[in-house]
Amino acid sequence: MKIAAINVYQVDLPLKEGRYSWANGKYVEVFDCTVVEIETDSKITGYGEVCPLGPFYLPAYGPGVRTGVGELAPHLLGADPVEINKINHIMDTALLGHPYVKSAIDMACWDILGKHTGLSVCDLMGGKFGESVALYRAISQQAPDAMAKNIAGYRDEGYTKFQLKVGGDPDDDIARIHATREILDRGEVLIADANTGWLMHEAARVVDGVGKLDVYIEQPCKSYEECLTIRRRTARPFILDENIDGLQPLLRAYGDGAMDAINLKISKVGGLSKARQIRDLCVSLGIAMTIEDSWGGDIITAAIANLAQSTPERLRFSATDFNSYVTVQTAAGSPKRDNGCMSVVKGSIGLGIEPDFDSLGSPVAQYS
Ligand code: MG
Repeated sequence: MKIAAINVYQVDLPLKEGRYSWANGKYVEVFDCTVVEIETDSKITGYGEVCPLGPFYLPAYGPGVRTGVGELAPHLLGADPVEINKINHIMDTALLGHPYVKSAIDMACWDILGKHTGLSVCDLMGGKFGESVALYRAISQQAPDAMAKNIAGYRDEGYTKFQLKVGGDPDDDIARIHATREILDRGEVLIADANTGWLMHEAARVVDGVGKLDVYIEQPCKSYEECLTIRRRTARPFILDENIDGLQPLLRAYGDGAMDAINLKISKVGGLSKARQIRDLCVSLGIAMTIEDSWGGDIITAAIANLAQSTPERLRFSATDFNSYVTVQTAAGSPKRDNGCMSVVKGSIGLGIEPDFDSLGSPVAQYS
């Protein structure tokens, strides 16, 4: 099989809640999402999606995806999309870094491999564990009482895990954590995710200020060294996210005992292939994972479901159903949340989705 054409679509994904706010006053109201369509010479077409969390979360931005795909496309035309390690080798040779650009292409190749073999990506990634994947809900940064109210609403929809967006004023963040933990029961999970937003003295005050509350601390500071320092000053369970962007930082952090769990985002590490490699290593090492992406629509949600459900249940801390956060559908057939969980749709082939061209419109770039 050969890649015959690569088509690129851009779609805006507005948020149902209107605005998503996190550390240091950052927010996004409409996400800039890119869908990549890979056509082959054998009538099989695959789809991938990437959606940065604005231009100031990770070193990634919407127009950068489309520019990067244009850079890679001439190297990929004529290559065999089912030889996914070779596809990744071509991409890593032709363009250093820019993992988020490569993610959509890699994802589309997994979709093609599934369609070629008649298997779901979940089956290709090792097989299905359990009936469904428990999801977390991200709680946009607001005043403490508003965040508690939001949690109460999402809890009524079946969620049992909540990720608070903190990383603001330390006194406000301490109040946010107390106000939200108070309304939760035993067994319900609360994560305070600062998204790199605290300086060390601020993080030190917050981890001290929450005392023995049952709360996870996620990525308090910007650098790995700062996070490691805070990790050693708190007994709260600790999650690293932004700093774990590949195998080498994961191995270093494991060696340092720097975290209890990681947040594995597909586009942060360069696609499903590299996410699977990290996932499998974490399974072997006993590191629990939240499996998700920086943001996304239906295609990314399907990719998350396939990767998450092929992960042993005990090691998957949670996952995200991004398609329930936004108002626009990028594809039909994607998993839909049911009582705080999602699962790979039965009978899925590849990613199990059909793109919604009414939303995607015409390609913004075509390479053949
Ligand atoms: Mg995080």
